[in-house]
Formats: sequence, structure tokens, C-alpha cells
Amino acid sequence: MPRILIVEDEPAISFGLELDLKTDGYEVEVVEDGESAVRRGHEGGFDLIVLDLMLPKKDGFEVCRELRRGGIKTPILMLTARNLEVEKVLGLDLGADDYVTKPFSPKELRARVRALLRRGSSEEAGERYSFSDVEVDFARGEVRRGGVCVEMTPLEFQLIGVFVKNRGRVLSRDRLLDLAWGTDTHVTQRVVDNYIVTLRKKLEPEPAAPRFLMSVRGQGYRFDG
Ligand code: CA
Repeated sequence: MPRILIVEDEPAISFGLELDLKTDGYEVEVVEDGESAVRRGHEGGFDLIVLDLMLPKKDGFEVCRELRRGGIKTPILMLTARNLEVEKVLGLDLGADDYVTKPFSPKELRARVRALLRRGSSEEAGERYSFSDVEVDFARGEVRRGGVCVEMTPLEFQLIGVFVKNRGRVLSRDRLLDLAWGTDTHVTQRVVDNYIVTLRKKLEPEPAAPRFLMSVRGQGYRFDG
């Protein structure tokens, strides 16, 4: 039974949500402030976190940032109070997976919850990987950004696959050449740099200030997705 953490300080909303999600067969826990959310999120065991933005003690943005910094990958569905583009973009940049704008229909929210849980289980099977607003679909050989297909060459796709499999690890240019191009290649390390520039342009929110495809001085590159 999937377990969902609801973080919401307005009982009128959390009560209805809890009831709906329990009816759909999920196990549900509710916390009412940002600090408890960070603590429970780190303790883990949840398949999804429904996170309100306006919370006592710590707001939803801060909760999201702290969980992602702490390496917590649990999918996060944000509840944004206003229909503000800037809030959605900031939320997704901080590592939220999706958002619903208040007031939301219970039907819509339940659909989003189902979609995120499905996505989580195909990630576990290694078929898909998501970071920021990017989704790498290994089964289909596609990369989508904000739901829109990104055009990738086979080698670019291969390279992003190498990074996903080795996320958090520094990979030297030589190692990247081995893993993505193959050992009997004659391309130079410089080519790796050019490919990284291209990938950043295609996948990073700010290619000039990368957050995912990181340069590690004197060593190579590291994917922090
Ligand atoms: Ca609230």
C-alpha cells in the first residue's frame, strides 16, 4: 500500500485530502508544519509527499530544498495557493515533481497523485528518471522537458544515461569517453566538453549556471540530478 505524507496546516483541506486518499487505498499521515515535514520526510518510508507552500515554522519551498539537499528523492506534489508562474517555477527548480493550484478539485489532485506514484515505480524499475522538469524515458529513448520532447542525438542520450546511472559520482573525461563513446574511439576530451555544453543548453534551467551537470575542477563532471 503506497504511503503518502500530507503537509498542510489548514485542517479543512488536510481532512478532506486524507479522506480522499484513504478511500483510494493509500496509507496517509498528516503533519501541520514545515519542521515536522522535514523530519518525517528524512525518516522516510513515504512514496509521495503532498506539500503545501504556506506553512508554519518553515514554508514549503524550504521544506523541499532541505529534503532534496538531504538526498531525499520522494516525489513531491506542491500545493500552490495562487496561480503564480514564479511559484511553480521556483518549486520545480527546488526539486518538486508537480504542483496543483489551490483551490483544486479532489479529482484532479487524485489524478496527479496516481501519475506521480506511477512515475515513481517506473523509476524504481530503471525505466525512467526525473530531475527538475526533465524526464528521461529509457524505455522509449526519449527526454522530455516540462512534458515536451527534447531533441537528442543518440550519443547525447547515451551520455545522459551514463550520468543518470552514475549520479553523484565524479566522472573524468576519459571515463566518460569509455562509457558513452566506447573504448575504441578516437575523439578527444575536448569533444566531451562540447557535449556537456550542449546537454546543459538542452536540460539546465540556466545553462551558464548549471545545477545538474556540474564541472568538478581538474577532475571531470558530476551529475547532481
Ligand atoms: Ca497552508
